[in-house]
Amino acid sequence: MDSNNTQNLQICPVCKVSITEDGQVNFSTGSPGTRARLYARVCAYVQKPGCINQESQLIGKVTPEDGFESGEDLLTPFFSSLDQSTKQTQ
Ligand SMILES: [Zn+2]
Repeated sequence: MDSNNTQNLQICPVCKVSITEDGQVNFSTGSPGTRARLYARVCAYVQKPGCINQESQLIGKVTPEDGFESGEDLLTPFFSSLDQSTKQTQ
């Protein structure tokens, strides 16, 4: 009776992204990524109660590649306001 339940999305109320039951993260812009990528780009900076992507067991290993890459813009509207203070010049 659960054949309608294949799209079991979790939405992080803090980061405003959806995570499928497979662990695929759908960003508001850009291509889908992983929980590790979401964490490296958003959740690591947000650190607010209610964020559903703070469990290291689910996140797995965060690699430098999960961080920001030049030429790619995956900023969420929320995060872009934080970007003012955490901007890195490289
Ligand atoms: Zn989150």
